[in-house]
Amino acid sequence: MTTVAFIGLGNMGGPMAANLSKAGFDVRAFDLSEDALEAAKSNGCEVAFSALEAATGADFVISMLPAGKHVRELYVEGNAPLFEVIKQSALVIDCSTIDADTARSVAAEGEALGIGFVDAPVSGGVGGAQAGTLTFIVGGSEAHFEQAKLVLEVMGKNIFHAGDHGAGQVAKVCNNMLLSILMAGTCEAINMGVKNGLDPAVLSEIMKQSSGGNWALNVYNPYPGVMENAPASKNYQGGFQVDLMIKDLGLAMDVSQQSASAVPMGSAARSLFTLHKAKGNGKLDFSSLMQLYRDKEGES
Ligand code: NAD
Repeated sequence: MTTVAFIGLGNMGGPMAANLSKAGFDVRAFDLSEDALEAAKSNGCEVAFSALEAATGADFVISMLPAGKHVRELYVEGNAPLFEVIKQSALVIDCSTIDADTARSVAAEGEALGIGFVDAPVSGGVGGAQAGTLTFIVGGSEAHFEQAKLVLEVMGKNIFHAGDHGAGQVAKVCNNMLLSILMAGTCEAINMGVKNGLDPAVLSEIMKQSSGGNWALNVYNPYPGVMENAPASKNYQGGFQVDLMIKDLGLAMDVSQQSASAVPMGSAARSLFTLHKAKGNGKLDFSSLMQLYRDKEGES
């Protein structure tokens, strides 16, 4: 049976590991949190005492951690670096959203020891992790991309090969920077329409069918009450937090600086989301940026 070590069982990693277990993989799960371990156990995973124990002898090692420093510590620099125990035929798949430089340097350290590594950040959020419909954006060799598909296809619906090491991370932040710009623009346009007496639902439908149509209008309308199942109609609960969008925009700014790419729209979107967070909205869904624009007193 194929053995998968899964490190990091949070909002995303927990359901991803559960889907692998449900599909018949032998999942050895580890997290620093006792609650996360309990949940993994009830989802059919075998709980390991340490990341080292989980990774020893595993065919795949998957990590889903908060940031680059956690990934570097886990594989290379911590007290018990996993690269010391991972077998050579195994493949490491880091699904965390981290900076491309860390992804490239950890990949190089692994490959120097004969251990394959791909960065495979995801799009699709907690809902996609639970439903097994995530999009994986993979950076690494063609051979490792093919090897990774065996497990990625269980957890996701769309699996893309973006290029060599780090390319998955670059593609992911390009996408999220564009998403932030589209969301800010959509909030701005709807707000202007409403302030001029338009019904937000009617205006949204017009723009959706016109040249301003975009993903936010299609499936994630930021104005409360326009779309029944969107976070905007649930007090901006659930969905993709402002804090996480700001994290991804910070990574996008790093990429822009390192490559001298002009990102005036991305910088403006980052400032808007940061201002919104400063008003205490970091834990709300990112479409709550609508609140920054709304002039509640002026609305009828
Ligand atoms: P989370 O904070 O819910 O989970 C992270 C988990 O990692 C926690 O359970 C924590 O205890 C564990 N952890 C930290 N260091 C560890 C270590 N050394 N060993 C073992 N476990 C460790 O975060 P999340 O929402 O699951 O996000 C994980 C990653 O996925 C992040 O990089 C995030 O940017 C990315 N992401 C999140 C979403 C989302 O909607 N939540 C969407 C796309 C991508």
